[in-house]
Amino acid sequence: LCVKYWDIKCENSCWSQLIVMNRTSRLRSGTVPGVGLVHAPFSLLPTRFPASFWKQACELAPIFNELVDRVSLDGKFLQGSLSRTKQVDDFTARLLEIHAKMMAVNKKEDIRLGLHRSDYMLDSETNSLLQIELNTISTSFPGLGSLVSELHRTLLNQYGEVLGLDSERIPRNWAAIQFAEALGKAWVEYNNESAVVMMIVQAEERNMYDQYWLINHLKESHGVMTIRKTLAQVEAEGLVLPNGTLVVDGRPVAVVYFRAGYAPTDYPSEVEWSARLLIEQSSAIKCPSISYHLVGTKKIQQELAKPSVLERFLDNEEDIAKLRKCFAGLWSLDNEEIVKSAIEKPDLFVLKPQREGGGNNLYGHDLRETLIRLKNEQGEALAAYILMQRIFPRASLTQLVQGGVCFEELSISELGIFGSYLRNKDKVVINNQCGYLMRTKVSSSNEGGVAAGFAVLDSILLTDE
Ligand code: ADP
Ligand code: MG
Repeated sequence: LCVKYWDIKCENSCWSQLIVMNRTSRLRSGTVPGVGLVHAPFSLLPTRFPASFWKQACELAPIFNELVDRVSLDGKFLQGSLSRTKQVDDFTARLLEIHAKMMAVNKKEDIRLGLHRSDYMLDSETNSLLQIELNTISTSFPGLGSLVSELHRTLLNQYGEVLGLDSERIPRNWAAIQFAEALGKAWVEYNNESAVVMMIVQAEERNMYDQYWLINHLKESHGVMTIRKTLAQVEAEGLVLPNGTLVVDGRPVAVVYFRAGYAPTDYPSEVEWSARLLIEQSSAIKCPSISYHLVGTKKIQQELAKPSVLERFLDNEEDIAKLRKCFAGLWSLDNEEIVKSAIEKPDLFVLKPQREGGGNNLYGHDLRETLIRLKNEQGEALAAYILMQRIFPRASLTQLVQGGVCFEELSISELGIFGSYLRNKDKVVINNQCGYLMRTKVSSSNEGGVAAGFAVLDSILLTDE
């Protein structure tokens, strides 16, 4: 099959030509569209995934959407839960500072838009679906992820009989269309015909073609214009009118959609922080608002997993039980027993700082050394991290395609379920599961990001068991 890859690639070039990213090594590739394209890494065939777990993951999406919304309204909970993290993590401290400023002036977000992705792995030891994390900012790959599902569908339509695989068992994936629909409907709720959607982007963006799918759908299906700006450009070109309208480069902004702003490197100077504050002070719909952003931190994930905390935010007991069932073990580092266990058996844990975007977690030997060092420092340094039960997905042989080369490796997968939520005061306009992102990586790799170079884009083939 690997040998046949080149024939397949030619026959299906319409799909593979669209699944592209920017090559980091090529000058201007990350800034000028069309320069230095390379195909995004993908798996040649979809990965098997039990239909029962797929259903379970889909059902969780609207519940997590609702949970994020409820938690976002409890400013004291967010500030309280992150108060110790704040002392040792400057980035979280800056986010909390903006959040506190908004609380001080009693700023309300009547229209709230969330484009989330909840990531899961199937734990082979307990045979259960366990959540890795919930992303509330800059959730990537609704665009390219949907295309890989279509690529796999096309391949199975052609070769499925030979391979004994049925293309109908790949769930349809409309993530890009549905994300664009949520942005479009948010624009409608804002109710200003001349306003635009503003996408906040990095100055150099490897993944701009994933973003273009949303921009295209927004224009074609909803007639909404999108502008792309870095935080520095917003600072230079933006202002908030006395009535709260955010105006950037002379254009009123209805929705600010962040595809940057989740990492410290997105704020190289004070300029970017003042742009973030300016946006937050305005009446534009923020996706996410500073509150939604904070709900997505790993510390809040760990706080929500404590006994009786979900009950503060949700009423429906069945929903609460469903959420709890997918929570892996999560602990703060003031739990001395757990820290001791993790030092003794580091391979059963993952140590996570408050960071997004891949490449930040600690495993095995590094985890043990870091815990011993932080413990010896005896300050608040431990508060920057959380500990998580390590999940062990079953590995299977997969054909991965990277840089035009197909190779076979033992791999494990992580399924992300996209969710969209739009609310205007008491009216819930959208609360949906909307498509998915399957990522597969060689089983020896600890990290999981596609843009970060660890994983490939994949889709799923539903199985009965
Ligand atoms: P990030 O915000 O950097 O994406 P994640 O919590 O998603 O942080 O962790 C990054 C990657 O590390 C995941 O995609 C997954 O591959 C791996 N990972 C995270 N948590 C666990 C866990 N508890 N068990 C096994 N692997 C994990
Ligand atoms: Mg992740």
